[in-house]
Amino acid sequence: MIAHQAEALVLRTWPVHEADHIVSLFTRDQGKLKGIAKASARSRRRFGGALEPMTYVMASYVEKPRQELVRLDSCEILISPLSDPVDYARAAALAFFAEVLEETLPDHDPQDPVFRLALAVIDHTRAGKIWLPVTYFGLWITRLMGWMPDLAHCLTCGRAFAGGSAYFNAQADGLVCHEHRSAASRALSALSLGAAERIFRNPIAALAAEEWPRSRAADLRRFTLQSLERHLERRLHSATALAKLGE
Ligand SMILES: [Zn+2]
Repeated sequence: MIAHQAEALVLRTWPVHEADHIVSLFTRDQGKLKGIAKASARSRRRFGGALEPMTYVMASYVEKPRQELVRLDSCEILISPLSDPVDYARAAALAFFAEVLEETLPDHDPQDPVFRLALAVIDHTRAGKIWLPVTYFGLWITRLMGWMPDLAHCLTCGRAFAGGSAYFNAQADGLVCHEHRSAASRALSALSLGAAERIFRNPIAALAAEEWPRSRAADLRRFTLQSLERHLERRLHSATALAKLGE
């Protein structure tokens, strides 16, 4: 048996038996893993409030040979998303981060850049201010997974978009120019391509003072979500919830 203490983000929990939970954790050192938290429904001392999705915790767990689940002994809260006001939009954004991480990360594969991305976007996800962190996270996770196509040139002819719109469609990777778009294509505006470029060049803190209403870069979010869903080969429930939000 090997005992670990690791920084982790709680992604998801499932109740099992009478009072236990299975917990999916994204640990900084060991990547994503699943553990069983015995009596977690009763033990406020060991788990009180720490199993909410996207809670940043110090997790203590024991790995046993030939066992899929670790034994999760306790989670100490480092930063709780509940320490800040939660409105419906913020809850939907946090659920989106958790679902994307749960679905994209392979088990037992540490991904420190993804861990740092997650901490940064959580920190900027405030009640009534979610569209920058959602857009930022969507773009970066797509790039870090290696799924982000060239945003500057047409996939078909290689011509630079050079200040014009690009086009994308749900069935294919990559962006194309006006000439090579298909009937099902949607436009990605030059303004949104510019926003993507700035997102890839700057930490989120450098963009946080700007106004990001829902309408800003909405086409870019749609493009990124379609890329994610196509690679995951499933719909993201949390993305549907986000799409239904108003301003
Ligand atoms: Zn072209």
